[in-house]
Amino acid sequence: MTTARVPTSKAAALPVADYAAPVTASGRLSLPAGVRPFQLNWPYIIVIAGYHVVALLAFLPGYFSWSGLILAMLLTHLCGLFGINLCYHRLLTHRGLKCPKWLEHSMVIVAMSCLQETPARWVAIHRRHHQFADEQPDPHSPLASFFWSHIGWILVHQPELSRLGIYERYAKDILRDRFYVALERYGWLVWINLIQMPLFFAAGFAAAWLLGQSPEAATQAGLSILMFGVFVRTVLVWHITWAVNSVTHVWGYRSYDTDEDSRNNIVVGLISNGEGWHNNHHADPRSARHGHRWWEMDNTWLTIRFLERIGLATDVVAPSAHLRAQAAKARLITRGSNGVPAE
Ligand SMILES: [Zn+2]
Ligand SMILES: [Zn+2]
Repeated sequence: MTTARVPTSKAAALPVADYAAPVTASGRLSLPAGVRPFQLNWPYIIVIAGYHVVALLAFLPGYFSWSGLILAMLLTHLCGLFGINLCYHRLLTHRGLKCPKWLEHSMVIVAMSCLQETPARWVAIHRRHHQFADEQPDPHSPLASFFWSHIGWILVHQPELSRLGIYERYAKDILRDRFYVALERYGWLVWINLIQMPLFFAAGFAAAWLLGQSPEAATQAGLSILMFGVFVRTVLVWHITWAVNSVTHVWGYRSYDTDEDSRNNIVVGLISNGEGWHNNHHADPRSARHGHRWWEMDNTWLTIRFLERIGLATDVVAPSAHLRAQAAKARLITRGSNGVPAE
C-alpha cells in the first residue's frame, strides 16, 4: 500500500508531541494528558443536565404543543446548519469559504445560541481533533470509549484544553477579529443563551394573545415555545454535533483510507445536514463540500452554493483534485494537519 499526503499547510508543521502512554492496559486509547476521570466540570454538568431535564419536561401534557415541536425541529436544522456546520466548522475552522463580516458575525451569534462554546474555543478544540484524530491528544476519540467521545469529554476538566496556549496554537487567526475577542472576554456565551429565553417566551405569549387566548393560556403557550425553541432545540443540536464526534468515528463506511478511524455515516449525514460524511471530511478538511458522492446529501454545501450564487459567499473551496486522483486507494496521512490554510 502506498502512502500519499494530502495538501498540507503551515499548520502541518505544528509539533506532534504531548504523547504519554497511548494505550491503557485494556487496549483502549488513553484519555488526553492530565485528564482525571473524576475531576468533574460541574458548571457544564449542571447546565447540560438541566437542559436535558427541561427538554424532557416539554413533552408533558401541560407544556407540549405541536407548534413548539415543529419550531424545535425547524430551529435544530437552521441553527445547526448555519451556526455550527457552515459558520463554526466550514468557515471559521477550515476556512472553506468567506462571507461578508456582518453575515459571519450574525451566524456566530446563531452558533453561540446553541451553547457550544465561543468561536475561538470551538475552533481550537476542533483543529486539535483533526491534528491528533484518534490519538491520545484527540479531545474526544471513541477509541478511549464511546461515552467519552459523545459527552464524557465535556464533563471533566481537560487541562490541555484549558491552557491559554490552545488559543495561541489553534485560534490565533480567529482572535485577530476584535468581535471574537469581545465574545471571549465579556461572557457573551452565557448572555446570549439567557437573553434568548425571554424572547422565545414573549413570542409564544404574544402569538397566543393575538389569537385571542386567555392570559393563562398565553402564558402556557409562551412556556411551551420557550421549552421547545430553546431547551429541546439546544439538546438536539448538541447530540447531533456530538454524534459527529462519536458515531462517525465508529460506524459507517470509509471512502478514503485515512490514517484515523473516521467514517461516513448515512444517519448522521442526513440528520446533521452533511457533517456525517466525516471520512470525506477528514480526507479533505478544507473542502466546503462534505458529501462527495451524488447521493451523499449535504444541505450545508447546497446552502453554501446558494450563498455563493447570491454573492454572499466567496473563495469556496471545492473537493481537492489531488484527492480525486487517489484512485489507487493510497493511504492518506491526514493527522498532523489541522485543516487550515497557510497564512
Ligand atoms: Zn473527526
Ligand atoms: Zn473539521
